[in-house]
Amino acid sequence: MKLSEVTLSHHYADLGDAFGTRIDPTPFEHPKLIHVNPAVLQLLGIDKSEAQNPDWAQLGCGKKLFNGSRPFAMKYTGHQFGVYNPDLGDGRALLLGEIENAGKRWELHLKGAGKTPYSRFGDGRAVLRSTIREYLAGEALSGLGIPSTRALCIVGSDEPVVREQIESGAMLIRVAETHVRFGHFEYLFYTKQLQALHKLIEFICRRFVADTAELPVSEQAEALLRFTTRRSAELVAGWQAVGFAHGVLNTDNMSIIGDTFDYGPYGFLDDYEPTFICNHSDHTGRYAFEQQPGVVLWNLNALAHAFSAFVSVEALRDCLEEFQPHLIDTYAAQMRRKLGLQTAEDGDQALCADLLQLLADASADYTLFFRALAHYRGERPPAALQELIPPAQHEALEHWLDHYDQRLAREDSDSRVRNRAMLAANPKFVLRNYLAQKIIDAAEVGDYRPLQTMVELLQSPFDEHPQHETWAVAPPESGKHMPVSCSS
Ligand code: AMP
Ligand code: MG
Ligand code: MG
Repeated sequence: MKLSEVTLSHHYADLGDAFGTRIDPTPFEHPKLIHVNPAVLQLLGIDKSEAQNPDWAQLGCGKKLFNGSRPFAMKYTGHQFGVYNPDLGDGRALLLGEIENAGKRWELHLKGAGKTPYSRFGDGRAVLRSTIREYLAGEALSGLGIPSTRALCIVGSDEPVVREQIESGAMLIRVAETHVRFGHFEYLFYTKQLQALHKLIEFICRRFVADTAELPVSEQAEALLRFTTRRSAELVAGWQAVGFAHGVLNTDNMSIIGDTFDYGPYGFLDDYEPTFICNHSDHTGRYAFEQQPGVVLWNLNALAHAFSAFVSVEALRDCLEEFQPHLIDTYAAQMRRKLGLQTAEDGDQALCADLLQLLADASADYTLFFRALAHYRGERPPAALQELIPPAQHEALEHWLDHYDQRLAREDSDSRVRNRAMLAANPKFVLRNYLAQKIIDAAEVGDYRPLQTMVELLQSPFDEHPQHETWAVAPPESGKHMPVSCSS
């Protein structure tokens, strides 16, 4: 399809006034097209050649609207750092509408589009730095096979936006199958709009939860909670396996279908550090890396509370009880893949835990260690692995490798076959914070080539890309623990 043939429909906005406010974007006066994502064009069924269409500069900042556009600010609330906030909603983003392609519906959401009734004290804008971070993160997680929203395009401007310093404004079109968050349900529950709550549950069930269309609301709500519980368990298992910390796991940043949603001060682990806190406003470590599974369950409890209008506490509890076993199973399967194990054995959890403890003690780079392990064929000394940890831990490493060798021998593991499988499970490239910062620094002076390169690497992170070795190394000490704030 050509860009000019795109016509948006509005199933969410058509739910009614209880769900948000119809409002137009505030465009940039001098938009500057920064990037169009050909991979997302393909998702939407738009010809890849349309990436060159100059109309994106206008479409990507609301200066021109897609055919049939009816921009809409969605209302939601949510628990932020454990405290209920009734005043949330799309404060700087607008749902433009949706496109149907290949049996799926994709919503387009313009972020940075100006003030809305839900802006509170905010300016309705986003900055170039944060739009680039959001774009890269969406590609990074999708490239690793973890569900995520993605960005269709970025448009910059010369509009000054005040953050910790003055930055330039930018907008991004975010694409997802739905932008409905846990907080949408919390809003309707806490304001006692139970008919609207019923409508929203039905809307999401019809789209995403098989065989629920004709059920009464109590059964739909229960099925939806079970669905979201399982999806969320899979999501957080994926984050823990790749070393991703979201940074702000408030219930308004939790997608009802289990996408990674709303990128702010996120971070990928460099050194394996379970207590890693990427958000420098998170003083208590509520959203530290190792806290994520527990916090996601906390958020599911908050969602379940909103469903208590229709479902008994026993039934809600029964749904939530699926979280832990499903998380453990999914995480274990992913770690077996990372370790190149084809079968499951009782001792695998201990084998994995021992390795993670070793990596933590050694402050080893998480990504580089597993990538090197994907080349391991029983060498002694294990030189390539030793290089990644300090000498004090070399003995512990050999000890662990002895156990690993025994484990591999028990399933007659063929090292060549195993290496190949492990190289497809352990990325060479992840979105390290210091790399993201270099890309942003270049973009801020008008050089978008590093951004382009990174997108290509993140879209195929398991490939070797030998010409880009320097993008696959550990950061310098100064590039670790760079503070990232919520203000974006
Ligand atoms: P977040 O911390 O990104 O999850 O955002 C929390 C809430 O603040 C949401 O309701 C956002 O829409 C709103 N918000 C964040 N930044 C801005 C901004 N610059 N202007 C207006 N609202 C904002
Ligand atoms: Mg948010
Ligand atoms: Mg945000």
